[in-house]
Amino acid sequence: MADVKEQGGDESFRDHLYNVAEDGKRLKIYPKKPAGRFYRGRTWFSWLLLVLLFSGPFIKINGHQLLLLNILERKFVLFGIPFWPQDFHLVVLSGLTLIVFIVLFTAIYGRVWCGWACPQTIFLEMVFRKIEYLIEGDAPRARSLDRRKTDFNKVWKKALKHSIFFTLSFLIANVFLAYIIGSDELITIITDPIDAHIGGLLSIVIFSLVFYGVFAKFREQACIIVCPYGRFQSALVDENTIAVTYDFKRGETRGHLTREDKNRMQEGAPLKTEQRGDCIDCHQCVDVCPTGIDIRNGIQLECVNCTACIDACDDVMDKINQPRGLVRYASLNSIKHPNNRLFSKRVVAYSGVLVVLMGLLGYFFSIRGDVEATILRQRGTLTTRLEEGVYGNFFQFNIVNKTFDAMEFDIRLLQPSEGSLRMITEERSIEGQTRVTGRFLISMPETALKGVQTPMKLGIFSGDKLLEEVKMSFQGPSQSGGR
Ligand code: SF4
Ligand code: SF4
Repeated sequence: MADVKEQGGDESFRDHLYNVAEDGKRLKIYPKKPAGRFYRGRTWFSWLLLVLLFSGPFIKINGHQLLLLNILERKFVLFGIPFWPQDFHLVVLSGLTLIVFIVLFTAIYGRVWCGWACPQTIFLEMVFRKIEYLIEGDAPRARSLDRRKTDFNKVWKKALKHSIFFTLSFLIANVFLAYIIGSDELITIITDPIDAHIGGLLSIVIFSLVFYGVFAKFREQACIIVCPYGRFQSALVDENTIAVTYDFKRGETRGHLTREDKNRMQEGAPLKTEQRGDCIDCHQCVDVCPTGIDIRNGIQLECVNCTACIDACDDVMDKINQPRGLVRYASLNSIKHPNNRLFSKRVVAYSGVLVVLMGLLGYFFSIRGDVEATILRQRGTLTTRLEEGVYGNFFQFNIVNKTFDAMEFDIRLLQPSEGSLRMITEERSIEGQTRVTGRFLISMPETALKGVQTPMKLGIFSGDKLLEEVKMSFQGPSQSGGR
């Protein structure tokens, strides 16, 4: 990583957090309202994500919620497909794939997730902060409002802001709960009499208070102090990682514009000379930063890659007629050595693991059936002679209906064709998301037996639809002795 001194700064910024004063008290950050092409892009993208997030629990596929993560009752639905504890291997594999994906993605693109898609950033910067700008104004006005004595103007603005913040937090808490307990259950809690769902309503209030606390008060500290992704990203990024970066080669030595600089530029000469760089030390990139850092100090843990400083600096460069991109998406190596290799060995290795995991995940999803059947020889039973030259084996079955719909089922002997299967249990239907157990008898003529173990193939059917095939073996009389 480039030494900050190489970039013209000093190391003092590493000794403290920007939002903490020397006496340990928190300093409130008043970021200037961003504007520019990246901010516009992020605004549009955040609206798309917000629509998806808020509609997710209410979109139904085949009557099932698009996404349900009911940890309490162990009900999980992904893209309308219900998952059972039997599908745990898929959940583990999906989790592993996600972790590797995040590691790989971070190694290549840094914290793009934080700046563009993280719900914390989206809610804070694209919803709560925008409302704050509307009510309290941009940074200087908001700062002076906080500093002035309490008067009517201050009280009504604060009251309005915090009422809207709490209402929004209440809405977010409801959506959050809808992902956990299901939208139908949530609507029941809301519409039933209060005393029928005290626990559910209490959860909504607690979640609302937590969200309000995070978005109204805690803010950037969630990214800097709490978020584990933010903490371990320093172990994932390297000099090839593409991130919001200050081009110190172009920008240094920084300095305010002098009359001499202006005269030179008016004659069409570039700002950069041997004595000075393109950074005019205007502080605009720092003023817009929601975590309060100075991007010119290099990649820092507090940077959430929100791109606000890119927009701010591009605007400055436009005003002084210099090319944009003094702060831009770039890797440190591409700034130090323009011919660097974009894909490092580590990135290639991560990509390989990711492709293998995605392939495995795809395979396991493709072979996942609607039912999960377990068939075992009935414990304590021996091979039975049913009549002269015909033997029988008793089996017990356990069938899980992974769907949400009731289904009729039937178990048939597919091979060998000489045998026959008779259900002992009369039960022939399974409610959705339940299991059924029972017994059946397979009889086999002696002529079809192939020694002690005769391979068989059984089919679990719903109507004429084969749901699952199970391979078993029929135990012949010689081992058990027959009766
Ligand atoms: S906005 Fe650009 S020119 Fe201004 S201080 Fe930041 S890097 Fe330098
Ligand atoms: S340094 Fe730039 S990209 Fe990073 S958080 Fe601050 S404004 Fe956003």
